[in-house]
Amino acid sequence: MSSSSRHALEKKSSIPPMVKLRQGEPTIVILASHTAEAEKWLAIFQRNDIQADWMTYRRLAAGGGDQLQQQPELWLLLEADLLPAMKAAMARQQSGPGEAPVVLLLEPDDTHRVSDLMLAGAADVWYQDLPTPLLLRRLEMELQLRRQERILAKKLLYEGAVAECARLLVGRGPLGLHLQRALEILQTASGVSRAYVFRNHLDPVRGLCVTQVHESCAPGIEAQIDNPQLQDQPFARDAPNALALLASGEPFVGLVDDLPEPERELLSSQRILSVLILPIFCGEEFWGFIGFDDFEQPTPWHHDEIALLRIVAETTGLAIERQYAEDELYLLAVVDPLTGLHNRRHITQQLVNLVNQSLRENIHFSVALLDIDWFKRINDTFGHQGGDLVLRDFAKALKRSCRSYDLVGRYGGEEFMLSLLHADSDQLAQRLLRLRNELCTCPVQYQNDAIPMTFSAGIASTKELGGLLTVDALINLADRRLYEAKQQGRNCIVIGDLTPAI
Ligand code: GH3
Ligand code: MG
Ligand code: MG
Repeated sequence: MSSSSRHALEKKSSIPPMVKLRQGEPTIVILASHTAEAEKWLAIFQRNDIQADWMTYRRLAAGGGDQLQQQPELWLLLEADLLPAMKAAMARQQSGPGEAPVVLLLEPDDTHRVSDLMLAGAADVWYQDLPTPLLLRRLEMELQLRRQERILAKKLLYEGAVAECARLLVGRGPLGLHLQRALEILQTASGVSRAYVFRNHLDPVRGLCVTQVHESCAPGIEAQIDNPQLQDQPFARDAPNALALLASGEPFVGLVDDLPEPERELLSSQRILSVLILPIFCGEEFWGFIGFDDFEQPTPWHHDEIALLRIVAETTGLAIERQYAEDELYLLAVVDPLTGLHNRRHITQQLVNLVNQSLRENIHFSVALLDIDWFKRINDTFGHQGGDLVLRDFAKALKRSCRSYDLVGRYGGEEFMLSLLHADSDQLAQRLLRLRNELCTCPVQYQNDAIPMTFSAGIASTKELGGLLTVDALINLADRRLYEAKQQGRNCIVIGDLTPAI
């Protein structure tokens, strides 16, 4: 049915206006034994802009219902005798052709069979001698009712999908995984080809840029998440109209042919036919967007559907905001703000885990306590700011000397800790010697001064403690050796009670 004739029908109709969620044109399939009969009706429907097809009973019985591209809204059966066999054939097919009602178009002299046919499963019985306009009107009403039913079912499905997404996003757990799952749910529920999330970031030269961070594609649709042409793209250059709308909190939506340039060119070059993009705000910040592309049909978006998907975009923004707040709290709890290294609480906790692992799996590891020498003097000479800079630079050098799985942190004041898994005291001492050389060759630069700095360290390893191994015992041993290193004159690393200072 063309949009103009559908519009005319809706105007004439006394049925309340339809909610048009996204959908294709409704179709009718005529079932007949003979071409001539079917073609007579096809011609009538075509003249009246009603999309129809036909099929022989024989083809239906051979699985023809499964081969249809789009499941019909209605089956129109021209021969009453075929009804029982046809119902049985439909029930056998996989893709649900039996869900559409079967309407019988009877010869006038078959009137006496109406109740039997209804009992046998006919949804309705019409007569072939009805005046064509009346027959078409009934057909249109039937299709509208079917469509309405489908829309209601789809709305329910949507609401369920949105509720499930909100539950996922509000729930505890890794937000990235939940967002990916939510996209998959929405992509399936909305029937779009592709659903995605893009993240904004500010480039100092190119302005606001966007990068795709999540995606869910329908079967057969090529994923774009690894396509470099869609990553890190300047937003204002590529899609200024979309940017203006989204940044003001409005959706960017439409059939691609109706969109302004340059968005039309950008999207049609990717063969996208219709699009819906909703902004994600994290507090006041325009964080990114969630979008839905259609490659199959240029299906318009209905405002009810947009409103539902908007709930998901808003919930996503809230979930991200909460994640940020939690990340911040976590950082406050585990990171030392001056040096960016883990704080004493965190490394001690990690040490408990390592000691337990070492006892369970018989793994060796070593711990070093490091203390900057004569640090008070540095403070006194270069001021507290100079002292802070020394702490930060020392922390950086220490971090640079570590692998990602080493445990390193600020133990307090000018004291630091380094712990290496699968390493004995000698290996840890070698690491610290390299650090000492680096500090020696690159003193800290403060204003016009180079601040000379050394450190002392005490090292203890798990194998020294055997059955007496605990976190406290390990740290006490390292601390005793650190004290000994100071006694030895500083700038010194002590690895064992009888070991001479290095
Ligand atoms: P030693 O070689 O025996 O370790 O002598 P030291 O001077 O390094 O040790 P001491 O314990 O006497 O002094 C440590 C100083 O570190 C005292 C304290 O004010 C300073 N300090 C602790 N935390 C900070 C900080 O965050 N910033 C700065 N600038 N100084 C700090
Ligand atoms: Mg100290
Ligand atoms: Mg000190």
